[in-house]
Amino acid sequence: MDADVLIIGAGPAGSMAARMLKKRGYRVVILEKELFPRFSIGESLLPQCMAFLEEADLLEQVAAENFQLKNGAAFSHAGKLTEFDFSQKFTPGWGSTYQVPRAGFDQTLAEAAEDCGAVIHYRHSIVAADFNTPGQARLTTIDGNGLQRDWTAGWVMDASGFGRVLPRLLELETPSSLPPRQALFTHIEDRITVPDYDRNKILIAIHPQFHEVWYWLIPFSNGRSSLGVVMPMDFIATRSGSPLEILQELALAEPRLAELLKDSRFDAPVNRIGGYSADVKNLYGEGFVLLGNAGEFLDPVFSSGVTIALKSASLAVPLVDKHLRGVPVDWQADYEQTLRNGINVFRAYVDAWYDGRFQRIIFAERQLTQIKSMICSILAGFVWDETNPMTQRCSKKIDAVADSCPPL
Ligand code: FAD
Repeated sequence: MDADVLIIGAGPAGSMAARMLKKRGYRVVILEKELFPRFSIGESLLPQCMAFLEEADLLEQVAAENFQLKNGAAFSHAGKLTEFDFSQKFTPGWGSTYQVPRAGFDQTLAEAAEDCGAVIHYRHSIVAADFNTPGQARLTTIDGNGLQRDWTAGWVMDASGFGRVLPRLLELETPSSLPPRQALFTHIEDRITVPDYDRNKILIAIHPQFHEVWYWLIPFSNGRSSLGVVMPMDFIATRSGSPLEILQELALAEPRLAELLKDSRFDAPVNRIGGYSADVKNLYGEGFVLLGNAGEFLDPVFSSGVTIALKSASLAVPLVDKHLRGVPVDWQADYEQTLRNGINVFRAYVDAWYDGRFQRIIFAERQLTQIKSMICSILAGFVWDETNPMTQRCSKKIDAVADSCPPL
């Protein structure tokens, strides 16, 4: 066989899984479609990520990149500003993290996997998969020169993100519970000089009239920022102009962004991505497991994607290890259910964001300190903390808190 484990994709989930498996002594090959460094969306991490990076012994490499510190989240709507400081969160653990241009972050993680001995074949795209032979999985790639090749291993981890390789090839896809939305985004030279602006926080702003239209401003450490706007699928048809003009027009409609971006230079292309919410019938099967975005992806609003990707690697690696040692594995309980418990907490807050309940909670002027710290934990990504009452029967709890908050 070519490896003990084949991994599809060298994004955060794939590289972290590869490094953890190598440390356990396995032969690991990653098959990656692109050549690194390459652009990827998903630039604001959550403090919960740091525990997973620590587990994979990746903190030193990430710290060496001098990424922008992130210690909280700021929100703005129609002149109201509010913020959450992650050091005030309910759950013990990391209270800060980074905002990262993903080209550099993903390359750092991929190199750290290679440093441990994982082999990465770039420009290798998976085109077929066969799990019909017990104990031997087979993947077929086409490389950058058009050459086809088969690869065999004892197990496959699909970390192909939005590529969704095995969900497509094995017909595992199922519609997301969330309606399709789209985002326009770019990188800018931000030139922000406003004195009360805190580069250590992501800014999430809401359109003054359309509460389902919201923006992110993610500052980096090099004077540039990621700026994006998320909207319902049909909203863009109500605007005119190029994607750049629409992004600028929408951003300038929001008072805080208009103030912050008044000197910014829009010097890079504007990208569009839509219909990104996705789900699958199962996160595992005979011979494979789906990690990160290759499984379920919800929504960008709480920057949960990389956290879920790293959590999935952290959960799956010990189970693959067990399987390869011949120990029976309960994938349903120990992987699917555990991972989905946290994803479902995020889902409850995403639903409440778009129906307005969570926006009311965020902007309520008077908030009980304890409730605020519990919500702060969610915003910091600690959704698997069952001791936080706001992770249990979330929708009902959100209802109860929102009922006591004034309308936006
Ligand atoms: P990815 O990072 O997508 O990596 C998958 C890898 O697989 C890629 O390198 C790809 O080239 C490779 N691949 C794909 N197809 C194939 C193939 N056929 N063969 C071989 N290799 C293949 N998350 C956050 O945490 N913070 C944010 O601020 C954030 N903002 C977002 C904003 C938007 C608009 C969207 C849509 C998402 C955002 N996300 C964010 C989510 C984030 O982008 C993903 O959740 C995260 O990148 C998932 O990591 P991953 O390792 O699962 O997959």
